[in-house]
Amino acid sequence: MSIRNFIFEMSSKVIAGGGLDAEEAVRLSTASAADRLLLFAEAARIRDHFIGNRVFLCSIINAKSGRCSENCAFCAQSVYHDSGAPVYPLVNEDEMVRCAILAEQDGAGCYGIVTSGTGINNNDELDRVCRVVTRIKSETGISPSCSLGIIDVEKAVRLKNAGMETYHHNIETARSFFPNICTTHDYEDDLATISAAKSVGLKVCCGGIFGLGETFEQRVEMAITLRELGVDSIPLNFLNPVAGTLLEKADNLTPMECLTIISVYRFLLPDKRLSVCGGRERNLRELQSWIFLAGASGTMTGNYLTTPGRPPELDKQMLRDLEMDVEGCCGDYKHDA
Ligand code: SF4
Repeated sequence: MSIRNFIFEMSSKVIAGGGLDAEEAVRLSTASAADRLLLFAEAARIRDHFIGNRVFLCSIINAKSGRCSENCAFCAQSVYHDSGAPVYPLVNEDEMVRCAILAEQDGAGCYGIVTSGTGINNNDELDRVCRVVTRIKSETGISPSCSLGIIDVEKAVRLKNAGMETYHHNIETARSFFPNICTTHDYEDDLATISAAKSVGLKVCCGGIFGLGETFEQRVEMAITLRELGVDSIPLNFLNPVAGTLLEKADNLTPMECLTIISVYRFLLPDKRLSVCGGRERNLRELQSWIFLAGASGTMTGNYLTTPGRPPELDKQMLRDLEMDVEGCCGDYKHDA
């Protein structure tokens, strides 16, 4: 079967409610540059079927930066790397709330409080984050989420009771590639955090980062893990190599490769939020708006953890030009298909 017919067959199967296996997903990635335009279009058709012509924006604050004892090869905040990334303790509560208000004004529906480190490790910090979550719930219309590293059920309950709706925790890459990226904690620790969050009824935002040297088979492996975990939204990050990190010289991605990843993820995770986050500007360059034509349903606006994003007004203009609807983060975003 030609690759074009194969793309049509797979998109019809997905829209009919079927799921792709790993081999089928990898074959999609072998399309030529010309045939990838069809792949993107069919991924967008799948998004439109399950979600509609809608997009959501999220924003984050790097609420505690640097000195992380983990050794993630891509990360500027690891103590193993001499990256010059900012180092500071948990920022004060008023500042976290102020940034939530600004994020809401910029159109974000979800605001993530992100801290470096294996986990949030003392009650004082967790108390402060919980207070901020409660204030954001009462003082803004934005949905607060947290990314505080590895947590257990007890911490998940405290965050939920404070008003947090979504916990974010990335698995970063495929299980088979993870030992190449991090050796200071186990993949199972990340999976346990996701289980803890889900077990108390939180929504889970969980994805990973591409361009670390993984194969396309491993990208598909991660997507299938995410499908099995039943996560709610999936951030797709593309490596922006930072000097001083282990992967400072990695330069594995092209814009078309990024768009292919997005599309294949849409085929594999048809009704999930796929949000393009870190590395968008560097890796997509002039093709940034194509992420939505390739099946994405969200993006991060504003700055990333240790690298700057572009002005939010440019993202808003991009979405106006695409004539896509922007919606809040945590409502029911499924389209009545
Ligand atoms: S990715 Fe997270 S856990 Fe890994 S080094 Fe960076 S801050 Fe630490």
